[in-house]
Amino acid sequence: MATRQIDLIVIHCSATPNGRWTSTLDIDHWHAERGFRRQSGAAAHYNPDLKSIGYHWVLYPNGARATGRHASEVGAHARGVNARSLGICLVGTDRYTYAQWGALLDQVRHLCATHHVPLQHADARNGYVGVCGHRDLAGVAKTCPGFEVADWLDQDLLPLADHLLETPR
Ligand SMILES: [Zn+2]
Repeated sequence: MATRQIDLIVIHCSATPNGRWTSTLDIDHWHAERGFRRQSGAAAHYNPDLKSIGYHWVLYPNGARATGRHASEVGAHARGVNARSLGICLVGTDRYTYAQWGALLDQVRHLCATHHVPLQHADARNGYVGVCGHRDLAGVAKTCPGFEVADWLDQDLLPLADHLLETPR
């Protein structure tokens, strides 16, 4: 598959109850209902049971990382920037487990290093290069992913206390 230039990582949430298990198959069904469709050639070679899912990764409450579209495939997760971005979905709405925060840190660090994406908040001033939440993109009225990615980056990618599912001791 042809490589494509990535300069943006977009963080999403599944908008399902915090801490409740939701699988890539569930998300695939919802995205199919919204009319998303992977190219058949790409789907045949990678996660063939997922015909529609728009994200590249899904992070489960136990910290497991599931794959959706291949990184080389254009996603369906952020209107206007799909061609140049990768999409990560946290299962939940606005509170995530320590394990999920850990998986998000690992995944974002890894992707920034692999694709040479600066570990900075992507916003209008830098042409949306870096890492942002879905809601940070121009024209998006959603709350997804339920927290300020800029705050998370400022805090060295540590869990945001107000968005932790577990009560700190
Ligand atoms: Zn989103």
